[in-house]
Amino acid sequence: MAYKTIYPYTGEVLKEYANHTEADLEDALAKGHALYKKWRKENALEERKAQLHLVADLLRRDCDKYAKAMVYDMGKLLDEAKFEVGLCADIADYYADKVDEFLKPEPFPTPAGEAYCVRQATGIVFAVEPWNFPFYQVMRVFAPNFIVGNPIILKHASNCPGSAEAFDNLCREAGCEEGAFKNLFLSYDLVSKAIADPRVQGACLTGSERGGASIAEAAGKNLKKSSLELGGNDAFIVLDDADMDEVKSLLFFARLYNAGQVCVSSKRFIVTEKNYDRFVADLKEEFAKAKCGDPMASDTTLAPLSSAVAKRDVLQAIKEAIDDGAQCIYGNELVDLPGFFVMPTILVNVTKDNSLYNREIFGPVGVVYKVKDEAEAIALANDSSYGLGNTIFGSDLQHAREVGEQIETGMSCINAGFTTLPELPFGGVKNSGYGRELSRLGFNAFVNEHLIFTPKETIARHK
Ligand code: NAP
Repeated sequence: MAYKTIYPYTGEVLKEYANHTEADLEDALAKGHALYKKWRKENALEERKAQLHLVADLLRRDCDKYAKAMVYDMGKLLDEAKFEVGLCADIADYYADKVDEFLKPEPFPTPAGEAYCVRQATGIVFAVEPWNFPFYQVMRVFAPNFIVGNPIILKHASNCPGSAEAFDNLCREAGCEEGAFKNLFLSYDLVSKAIADPRVQGACLTGSERGGASIAEAAGKNLKKSSLELGGNDAFIVLDDADMDEVKSLLFFARLYNAGQVCVSSKRFIVTEKNYDRFVADLKEEFAKAKCGDPMASDTTLAPLSSAVAKRDVLQAIKEAIDDGAQCIYGNELVDLPGFFVMPTILVNVTKDNSLYNREIFGPVGVVYKVKDEAEAIALANDSSYGLGNTIFGSDLQHAREVGEQIETGMSCINAGFTTLPELPFGGVKNSGYGRELSRLGFNAFVNEHLIFTPKETIARHK
């Protein structure tokens, strides 16, 4: 069976799940579509608001249960998982609270008459989600679509079926109608079939470029709208006037949170000459604080990677980088524990011809680059096929923002680690994907912005 919970701390298979069948998919499509039609007729917005608030309440009440499901699936620290559950509750509340404002008809002034747009549901959205934030990634799609009246069918990552099932049960417990949210353990073939089905009106994926290309291809072939949240190789730019104490305080979080398996973790540290030596010393010191161990224990600070394959891939990427001339100045030693741990590792001397130069490492590995000045930092940050996020450190905030605006990414954080909040848009450019999740922009992703236009002649005739 493809869908399994294998506990990354021990390697033990905790549970296997049978795949859903084509008949299960048909049932989900039929129920989702019937519900979409019903909601278009009856609206039921007040009911959905109450259900979404209840989803938030249940998440907060049963935080431990949901957090543990994630820990068993993909190994993150329990405290990180609890934070994720809380964030999901905030996202659910946010959309339930904001929907009236987001649904207000938007006027489009024209001398030709009266025009406005209403935002309406379009139908089932098919979501393909990754394992690194098993609840948060699903909530980013579920909350805005559910509240507007788009049913969701989820295909989650094959290594987090426990979390997928828990999310499905959560929706049921909150009283969401049948068809509103359905998790299915599907093969890739059935995913393509689902996206081709006329009852599905949109497809989204968070994951790798490979996965994204395949979902976008299925969507494009069938003229469906799609949105992709893909990988990143985010820069962490330290300008001459950076407050180095502030920088140091964020280094552990920037690269080691979630064992480095974050699309927006800082993967490339780009530091001007002035601060380089201090920066490298600080990064080593912060990485040395990592304590590998039981993800459920509160004194563990570095979780195992999500799977044996993830560990193999990270070690292989480090090896290839070193073979290509990179120098390892910290880490890359075996961790003497049974789980899928990788020691925090720092690489320097990664030149343009190195395999790592334009590659995302999804694990606790930081690459440090020394640059002459700010212009060189910006050029290096932009020399990437990715464009998800980045962080810029400088004491002159306005100047740091102006540097941020010169980086070809979807998100820039100033003097802060990467940040996600319900009210802030999330997404990238270039090979990091297209479309935005969260905020008002995420709400608009799969809505019909329906124009209602009355020409002035018509208005005059009907006075
Ligand atoms: P992945 O292999 O693309 O998997 C993500 C999801 O896509 C999983 O559910 C996977 O299912 C599914 N999938 C992959 N290929 C598919 C296909 N051909 N047809 C149907 N479904 C397919 O990604 P990953 O490597 O596990 O995830 C990590 C990546 O996600 C990193 O690159 C990370 O940066 C990115 N990410 C991006 C964001 C963002 O917001 N931009 C957020 C988090 C993560 P299976 O598990 O069954 O293969």
